[in-house]
Amino acid sequence: MIDPRRLIRPLVHRVHAYAPGEQPKIQGLIKLNTNENPYPPAPAVLRAVRAAVNSGLRLYPNASAEDLRAGLARLHGCRAENIVVGNGSDELLALAVRAFVEPGSGRVPRRAKVQYFTPSYSLYPVLADTHGATKCPVPLPPDFDLPPVAGLRRQGRWDFSAALSLVTTPNAPGGRGYSRRQLRELCAAHRGVLVLDEAYVDFAKEDALPLAREFPQVLVCRTFSKAYSLCALRVGYMVGHPELIGALHKMRDSYNVNRLGQAAAEATLRNLPYYRRNFRRVIATRERLAAGLEQLGFTVLPSQTNFLLARPPEGKAADWQRQWRERKILVRWFDQPRIREWLRISIGTDPEINALLRAARAIARLS
Ligand SMILES: *Cc1c(COP(=O)(O)O)cnc(C)c1O
Repeated sequence: MIDPRRLIRPLVHRVHAYAPGEQPKIQGLIKLNTNENPYPPAPAVLRAVRAAVNSGLRLYPNASAEDLRAGLARLHGCRAENIVVGNGSDELLALAVRAFVEPGSGRVPRRAKVQYFTPSYSLYPVLADTHGATKCPVPLPPDFDLPPVAGLRRQGRWDFSAALSLVTTPNAPGGRGYSRRQLRELCAAHRGVLVLDEAYVDFAKEDALPLAREFPQVLVCRTFSKAYSLCALRVGYMVGHPELIGALHKMRDSYNVNRLGQAAAEATLRNLPYYRRNFRRVIATRERLAAGLEQLGFTVLPSQTNFLLARPPEGKAADWQRQWRERKILVRWFDQPRIREWLRISIGTDPEINALLRAARAIARLS
């Protein structure tokens, strides 16, 4: 008898797979657990997707998302060779690990390092593990602010020459925004590849895209998922120096971005004012939710994203998650050090947030 377990690499047995937020099929659920946009894509985007369904399912997509890259280059004032599109930004983060990091701890340890701050995006350690790279988590200070370069040097844990460093900005799940000035200082000190993961940047005060043009070792990562309501179609991109971008192109699958995703993202770029109105709505709802939760005794971190990290009174986060769930409202609890007492709440529509606050008042009365 063949034991199939023995056919699998030991590394794979050791990997703890990424735990995605729940996607339940319960009717009427208010889903505030995975930072999806509560508003639909622009009508013109839905028309573009329908047209692509009618004409193109039989055909392969454009292999390098040429038209989309041209549109993105116009938007960001760079050239198509500065851009690679991925099957979601998650794919590009994985490609960056494969393109820039040596698997295993070889003769030069820094070449095998995947470095990131904690808490930040919980996918990063999984990507390092699946590649056999060395995980290098560096804790953020208690307020989750980005430490200045002098502070990082003094502490001595951050390796400015690590093969790959990943910085979520604005951060998740804390929600804190980092200024371009802070990030430029970090970029200027870096010798290894530095990815600025801007998944939530459209809800922030500042972005860091110019840093990808200023520094050859810096890549900025964006996604159409959160701000542009296209989670389902999986489209993300990176902007940076043509050498690094070319390396990612080499490592990707030949048809990595599907035809519907390309059509939807291209149409999105032609309808940006529609989305900017929604960003303002989400931000206004976010501030109203923060005030409502604070009135109930929650501690709420300042957010520049489409979610809030909030600590319930007395810190019984898992209990609150369960009680909201009993009332058909889903929020995210991370069983992770430093954020176990907190809940991450995605910003929904105004009626959804009103329902969440009503339920919170009822739960507070019971406890
Ligand atoms: C959601 C998220 C991503 C992944 O986005 P996709 O484009 O949907 O793969 C990447 N980074 C961060 C920080 C995220 O929160």
